[in-house]
Amino acid sequence: MAELRVDNLRKEYDRGSVVAVDDLSLTVADGEFVTVVGPSGCGKTTTLRMLAGLEEPTDGSIAIGGEDVTNVHAKNRDVAMVFQNYALYPHKTVFENMEFGLRMSTNMGKGERERRVVEAAEMMDIEELLEDKPDQLSGGQKQRVALGRAIVREPDVFLFDEPLSNLDAKLRTTMRAEIQRLQDELGITAVYVTHDQEEAMTMGDRMVILEGGVLQQVGSPTEVYANPVNRFVAGFVGSPSMNFVEVDVSTPGEGLRLTGPRGEFTFDLSPSYVTGSARHLRADRYTLGVRPENVSVLDGPGPNAITGTVEVIEPVGSDNYLHLDVADDFIARVDSDVSPEPGETVAIAFEESSVHLFDPETGVDVFNAEIDAPSASAV
Ligand code: ADP
Ligand code: MG
Repeated sequence: MAELRVDNLRKEYDRGSVVAVDDLSLTVADGEFVTVVGPSGCGKTTTLRMLAGLEEPTDGSIAIGGEDVTNVHAKNRDVAMVFQNYALYPHKTVFENMEFGLRMSTNMGKGERERRVVEAAEMMDIEELLEDKPDQLSGGQKQRVALGRAIVREPDVFLFDEPLSNLDAKLRTTMRAEIQRLQDELGITAVYVTHDQEEAMTMGDRMVILEGGVLQQVGSPTEVYANPVNRFVAGFVGSPSMNFVEVDVSTPGEGLRLTGPRGEFTFDLSPSYVTGSARHLRADRYTLGVRPENVSVLDGPGPNAITGTVEVIEPVGSDNYLHLDVADDFIARVDSDVSPEPGETVAIAFEESSVHLFDPETGVDVFNAEIDAPSASAV
C-alpha cells in the first residue's frame, strides 16, 4: 500500500516536437482509486507507461510510498499494469501466465507462488481455467486472467490502461464493479485510464481530465460534473453533452443579460448569482453552457423562457431527448411523458444556478474561476 506522487512529469517525443505529457503533477492517496480520462491521444497511455517504468520521462519525478522511483527499472517497481489487449503469453497456460511474473521478479518458492496463483484465481473466479491456454478463453475470461496476474504480484499500485474496451457493454458493467470490489478489498492504490467519461465517473474516487497532455481538472466525479473549470471539461463530462450557445453579455443593473446569437432570446442572471470574477466581465460574446438534464419544458410563457421548435425527439426509455432549433442543436432531456411532436414550438427554461458561462478565449468558466478580482480576461 502506498501513496503515488507525480511532480512535473513530462514526456516529449521526436526531439520535442510532440509533447505527449506536459508537466503533470498529481498525488494519489494510499488506497485511492483515481481515473484518468480524456480523448484519444491526450497522453493517458504515456502517463501510465512512465508510472510503470516502461517509458523514461523527459523531465519530472515519480515517487511511490515516499520513495523516488523515477530511475528505478520497471521490474523493480511494485506496480502491476493491466492492458486493453490482455497481453497474455499464448503458449503458456493460465496458471503459467499468472505465475510468470512472480517467477521472474521475485525469489519466491514454488509453493508460495502456487498458493498466490490459486488464491488470485479464486478471487477472479477462474480456478476452472488454470490449465487452459489463452486461445481457449473468451474476451471476458482473458481479462480476468490479466487481472488475476496483476493481483498475484500484490503490488503497491495498480495501473489499468483501458482494460475493458474490448468487452461488450454488459460484460463491461460487470467487470467495472468487479475491479472496484477487488481494489477496495485489497486496498491497493489504483490509476485507471479510460476514454469513456461514464466509466471514469462511475469508478473513480477522483477523476483527472487530460487534454493535449495537459491536466485540466482533478476532483470527485460530482465536483467535476457540477463545477467544470472550463469548456473542455464541461463538454467532455456528462451525457448527452452540455449545450453550448454563443451569447452577447450586457450588464443592465448589477445582473447580467445574455442575448442569443440572433437575438432570439434573452436570459437575465440576477445580481446575487453574478459573483466572483463574473462581476468583472466586459460586455462581449461568451459561451453559455447548460446541461440537457437541467432544461425543462414549460406549460406556457415564463420568466427567462426560451422558445424553440422541436426538430427531433429521441426516446431513450425513461427520458426523451428533445433536439431544438435553439442555436444549432440544443438538447433538452425531459421525462418520457413530455413528448411534443416534431415541428411543434415549445417554451423551455432552466434555473440560473445551472448556467455556466465560458470565456471565449481561455474557455474558463467565469462562475467557477478562483479569482475574485479582475484578471487578464476581465476589464
Ligand atoms: P492516449 O493513450 O491518451 O490515447 P498516448 O499517450 O498514446 O495517448 O499518446 C499521446 C501522444 O503522444 C499522441 O500524440 C501520440 O501520437 C504521441 N506518441 C505516443 N507514443 C509515441 C511514440 N513512441 N513516438 C512518438 N509519438 C508518440
Ligand atoms: Mg492509450
